[in-house]
Order: sequence, then C-alpha cells, then structure tokens
Amino acid sequence: MDPFIAKVIYMAGYWVANFVIRIPHIKAHGRLPIRARHNTRADTSLFFVVGLGGFLVPLFYVFTPLLSFADYHASLWMGVTGVVVLVLGDWVFWKSHRDLGGNWSPTLEIREQHTLVTEGIYRRIRHPMYLSLWLLVLAQAMILPNYVAGFSGLLPFGILYFLRVRNEEAMMVKYFGGQYEQYMKATGRLFPKF
Ligand code: SAH
Repeated sequence: MDPFIAKVIYMAGYWVANFVIRIPHIKAHGRLPIRARHNTRADTSLFFVVGLGGFLVPLFYVFTPLLSFADYHASLWMGVTGVVVLVLGDWVFWKSHRDLGGNWSPTLEIREQHTLVTEGIYRRIRHPMYLSLWLLVLAQAMILPNYVAGFSGLLPFGILYFLRVRNEEAMMVKYFGGQYEQYMKATGRLFPKF
C-alpha cells in the first residue's frame, strides 16, 4: 500500500477510536465516583507508554522524517488486511464501551455503583475491550510500513495486557465473588466460548 494512504488510514482509525468513541465516554462516565483503586505503578506507567506508542510515535512518523531509517516495503495484501483488522478493532472498541457503560475505567478501578456486565459483547468474551486494543495495535503493525512506528503500540500493549489481565480478574473476583467466577467459567478471555 502507498505509505501516504497507509498513514492517512491509520491516523483516521486511531482518531475514530480515541476521539470519536472514547472522549464522549470519558465525559459521560469519567466523573462517576470510585469505590476502590487497584492500580499498580507498572500498570499506570505502561498505560502511558501504550499512549505514546499508539499515537505519539506514529505522529512523528507521519509528520517528520525522523523515523525514515526504519521504513520497509510492505505488500499490498498486508496493508489491506491491516485495514480490515483496524475497522474490526474500532467496532469492537465501540461496542465494548457501549456495553460496559458507566463501569468503564481506563485503569483498574471499581466504581460506587459498579455492576457486573455479562451481556452484549461481554456474553462470551470477558475482555472485548482488550481484544479491540490487540486488534488496533496489530493493525498499526500491519498498516504502517516502519519498524519503529509499526510496532511501538504492539510491544507495550502486549506487556500491559499480560500484567493487567490477572490483576483485573482477581479484583473482579474480590468484588463480585462467585458471580464473577461463574462468569469466568462461561466465557473466554479474548476468544468467545460457546
Ligand atoms: N477488561 C474489560 C474491561 C476493560 S475497562 C474488557 O477488556 O472489556 C477496565 C475496567 O472495567 C476494570 O477496571 C473493571 O472495573 C471493569 N470491568 C471489567 N470487566 C467487567 C465486567 N464484566 N463488568 C463490569 N465491569 C468490568
């Protein structure tokens, strides 16, 4: 794919996820009172690194020649597959925000009025929002033909996911007990369980 088109498509997909989908959600739910915080320093730091890797590094790649040393030629089918993954990622991102509603938090937190969501996209998958982030960072790697800007999202998010997911499930078991344990048996982490 033409690198210019690749850059425009990636930035559009990122913009849709983080500005069109997430910002209204932050406005609507961001001020709901928090009952408990289970954030670790590693989790919070990685959260910022994921932001840098998914947005700031690609921004440098798009608007400056600083990362051109790491450019490579990518095949058209790789770019086109990446666009399909990007669109799917944006859709799962939107749907999981919608279904999670006021229970959403950017980090590990339980809100005052927290309810356990087990329906909609959460019916068979426990972590659809993390699935969507996997899809978005994979799309980044497939669409941007640059070793630095392509992989700067995938690496930190991969580490964040594996550090966070167990802590998050332990936190949910702490607050929802047997109800969450039942839910874990009925669902897959990232792939639907039937
Ligand atoms: N891991 C989920 C949610 C990500 S947002 C996903 O990938 O879709 C993170 C917050 O969502 C956590 O702090 C937790 O408070 C909340 N959460 C996670 N699973 C939940 C569920 N099934 N119902 C309600 N809240 C949930």
